[in-house]
Amino acid sequence: MREPPRTGRLNPPRVRFAPSPTGFLHVGGARTALFNWLFARHNGGVFILRIEDTDKAREREEYRKEIFSALRWLGLDWDEGPDRGGDFGPYVQSERLHLYAQAKEKLEAEGRVYPCFCGVASEARAAQDDEPEESYSRAEQCECASLSPAETAKRAAARDGEPALRFRVDSSKSHQAHDLIRGVVTFPPGEIEDFIITKEGGSPLYNFACAVDDAAMQITHVIRGEEHLGNLPKQLLLHVALGNTAPQFAHLPILLNTERKKLSKRDGATALSDYRRLGYLPGALLNFLALLGWSPGNDRELLSLEEIIALFDFERVQKHGAVFDTVKLTWMNGEYLKTAAHEELVAGVRELLRREADAADLRTDSQHVGKVCELLRGRAKTLAEIVKANKYLFSRALVLHWDANAISQRAATRESRLRLADAQSVLRELRTWDRAPVEEALRALAQSQGCKAAEYIGPLRVAVTGQAVSPGIFETLEVIGRETSLGRIDAFLSVVSTPLPA
Ligand code: GLU
Repeated sequence: MREPPRTGRLNPPRVRFAPSPTGFLHVGGARTALFNWLFARHNGGVFILRIEDTDKAREREEYRKEIFSALRWLGLDWDEGPDRGGDFGPYVQSERLHLYAQAKEKLEAEGRVYPCFCGVASEARAAQDDEPEESYSRAEQCECASLSPAETAKRAAARDGEPALRFRVDSSKSHQAHDLIRGVVTFPPGEIEDFIITKEGGSPLYNFACAVDDAAMQITHVIRGEEHLGNLPKQLLLHVALGNTAPQFAHLPILLNTERKKLSKRDGATALSDYRRLGYLPGALLNFLALLGWSPGNDRELLSLEEIIALFDFERVQKHGAVFDTVKLTWMNGEYLKTAAHEELVAGVRELLRREADAADLRTDSQHVGKVCELLRGRAKTLAEIVKANKYLFSRALVLHWDANAISQRAATRESRLRLADAQSVLRELRTWDRAPVEEALRALAQSQGCKAAEYIGPLRVAVTGQAVSPGIFETLEVIGRETSLGRIDAFLSVVSTPLPA
């Protein structure tokens, strides 16, 4: 095999993220995209997006769209790709079939492949399988390699269209490959068998299309998940057979749940779009994903993207599995919420508000949402928490779902209702509805009655927020605004039944 060119300064690396549109972009895929992007940006290289859509039975347009939008949301911009073009396009495999056909002809002419007739012809079967290759029997059960030329010709003539093609592998010897993270990886004799490169009808399978494209697109480094390690020797063999320069490979550690089992859908949100809907910030996710297998070499966990780009290399990528801990992610997101740009919070919260079932009753204008964000950014861990746990700050409603416990704790007695009415009278007189005069007026009222401010604040909080806990009441009243606050007090006093006289 030819080594990648090592003369003079290393050429700028070319890396690719090559998702298949057969599912939503999940966190593992996003981590792979991020590590490719970081490697490219650290080394002044090129980051390519290639869509691997040869599995038409399982592909869906919505998945394709979602991959693009999730990458854009994360800010992982690509230099070449389906929508951007580039010198090595097209960047969608279904538009590159002529290249696979050429490569296949070369392998056929050189006797590196043979027709295989033992595939399960049914497309339905292929559609059910996770890996289409599995619809073909294992090479050790396949006798096609040893058929006489006459028998091969007879079987080929007996069926419509092109038979599948299997690539010959010398399985009597071990295969070695170099991985930038794991070092030399040895695949013992028997592990790599003859494998299918094109299905019946001629469409290419993953390993083949991938190797052809990596070479044609002059990819220097293939960075992908550990689940592809078993494909490494097959792709190297194809590169040798096709006379191509093979890229270098780095297989990223598997993602584990907190019980150190392989992360799966059962562990909750695994699609990137779930995290967007749950109100995580892209910056926090990038920081978190970067630490899934890589470390900056010290205990620091909060790093800016610029710092991560500057520090990123394979030396500090671990071999063993990386734990995906949503508690840590949520903590990190809370830290990012504290310092995120005001506009980012406002845009993110408005997006979530628009998805709420009661969106029509909510105040979603930027100015109001901005005030709520500033009130809550130090307390909330996610944007969804800002929206879901604090509806009263957005709602125009005067009649709330007042929490029964909150009422019984703070606003059920006759005294508390009288205080609420007094507070309302004082507040009604205010000329400006800002935090400071609201506070001053309520404290003065409490003092004049010889009681603690808390005795006014408790019932007031229940009446205007519906709950016993909220951010500081004076800021909260300011954000909710004069009319709504006073209206809610009215509504509370008239709707919630009056307690019996003490
Ligand atoms: N289409 C493959 C996947 O989505 C790409 C694997 C690779 O990067 O080689 O897993």
